[in-house]
Amino acid sequence: MITGKNYIGGELSSNSFVSFKTFNPLLNIENNISFYEASDNEIEKSTKLANEAFKIFKQVSSLERSKFLNQISDELELIKNDIVNVYCSETGLSEDRCKAELNRTVNQLKSFAKLLIEGNFQEVSIDTSIPERKPIPKPDLRKMLMPIGPVLVFGASNFPLAYSTAGGDTASALAAGCPVILKSHPMHAGTGELVATAIIRAAKKTKMPNGVFSNLNSKGIEVGEKLVNSHYVKAVGFTGSLSGGRAIYNLASKRDTPIPVFAEMGSVNPVLIFPKKLKNEYSELAAKYAKSITIGSGQFCTNPGIIISFDTEIFNLFKNKLVEEIEKISPSCMLHPNIHKSYNDGVENIKKNKSVSVLTKKQIELDDNFPNHVISSVTANKFIEDKSLQQEIFGPCSLLVLCKDQHEMLNVIKSMEGQLTGTLLAEENDDYLTQEIINALELKVGRIIFNGVPTGVEVCPSMTHGGPYPASTDSRFSAVGINSIKRWLRPVSFQDFPQNLLPSELKNNNPLNIERNINGITTREGDSLFKI
Ligand code: NAP
Repeated sequence: MITGKNYIGGELSSNSFVSFKTFNPLLNIENNISFYEASDNEIEKSTKLANEAFKIFKQVSSLERSKFLNQISDELELIKNDIVNVYCSETGLSEDRCKAELNRTVNQLKSFAKLLIEGNFQEVSIDTSIPERKPIPKPDLRKMLMPIGPVLVFGASNFPLAYSTAGGDTASALAAGCPVILKSHPMHAGTGELVATAIIRAAKKTKMPNGVFSNLNSKGIEVGEKLVNSHYVKAVGFTGSLSGGRAIYNLASKRDTPIPVFAEMGSVNPVLIFPKKLKNEYSELAAKYAKSITIGSGQFCTNPGIIISFDTEIFNLFKNKLVEEIEKISPSCMLHPNIHKSYNDGVENIKKNKSVSVLTKKQIELDDNFPNHVISSVTANKFIEDKSLQQEIFGPCSLLVLCKDQHEMLNVIKSMEGQLTGTLLAEENDDYLTQEIINALELKVGRIIFNGVPTGVEVCPSMTHGGPYPASTDSRFSAVGINSIKRWLRPVSFQDFPQNLLPSELKNNNPLNIERNINGITTREGDSLFKI
């Protein structure tokens, strides 16, 4: 049952008079349940509790934390049907999409649970002393990654499960040993509460400290701002708009004690198409890209928003085919009237821009919250001149950028801001595909794709989901895959510590049997190595 209340640790709480409702974009009506905005008192209580919980949670063994994560995934499976119903009513997304996203969420939790048992995420390194070293003796130094403290996570509007309450940020932070305070996304607060209930149940069943997880409702930026400013919060995970992410980043930097913000924000994901590939496959590519641009109503951070190629006959054929294919696809509902409105505003700006030609012409009668698919084009020099054309329009549209030659293509890439992805559609031996172009693209992105589509983010250790600003606030980290745990860990070195006072991970006898780097050699060996 959804109560509309906040979870302050394991307790449901609602001591504010301010409430809001979620919205069913398919029916174009408000849903019934009222959600209570978190009060100042609840903000203070949840962050304080997280701070208390951290003292215990960071000592909980990897095995026990792993059980906690697996239990969350079991609890989610148990309430799968409830989640599907509420998710669909709050997002306009399909049952299949919900099930796929839930599956991904469960698998993410399980992959972190597995990492805790098998992985080497603490990066233990031991350099033993050399007392006889001249002119000064070398001390014994032992380093490992340790949890940073309570993490504030902002749920994402476009992934109510996989990047929200029990999504990648939460799973990785809990795996790291950091309590999580979740600032629930107001567009899917009901889904958020159901998932929070599963986390709280799992925490109780696996005897995790109270405060290891809290879920706070709000519609408006004040609660988020107060949470970012809480001195108990030690890091922030965010997925959403550039304006939101940047505001939170600025706020966190201005604190008396600044904290890291790992924000994954907008991206237009440039796609570069080369002539040989077009010659062989223009029709298939057009069909493939029409799908990629419109999937999920274009509400993906990896949506291909900019397609760059040469102004040639063959590209003309591709262009016409892309328009034909995209006009054949029926529009699907967007997540919320506000997101639909932002999309329409973005499209209007494109239409008003004198340098841009809108190529899609078909006008169909659309239900509320359903968007028109839009393809437009612009010359490379106008694109370089007008920075507004680089802004993400969150939805099913793409801008074609026409270059005269490779030099212009290179300038287009150089003019672009940081991106999550960049895609090359090319034959391996295409004369137009130079190393210079690849190098220029590599500087701008977190992931380069050869002959694929950027939508669809595989969850695995080799995935980078991040990129130079403004794609993310810290391009050294990925928001997807087990390595995303690194965002919530910090290195601590212990110098000349006695064995009995060292953390288990750093003791000579390696009681946890983990992989460690000892004097430059990776090994699970324990005592034997230290007696030599
Ligand atoms: P958003 O406006 O960035 O909001 C995300 C979360 O951050 C919400 O919980 C919001 O709180 C909070 N927030 C925003 N600005 C804040 C501030 N200045 N201080 C404190 N908290 C703040 O994103 P959204 O609601 O998900 O969607 C709006 C637009 O963002 C979309 O139309 C799209 O353009 C973009 N977006 C992009 C991606 C992507 O992956 N690239 C993903 C999602 C959305 P409240 O809602 O409570 O105000």
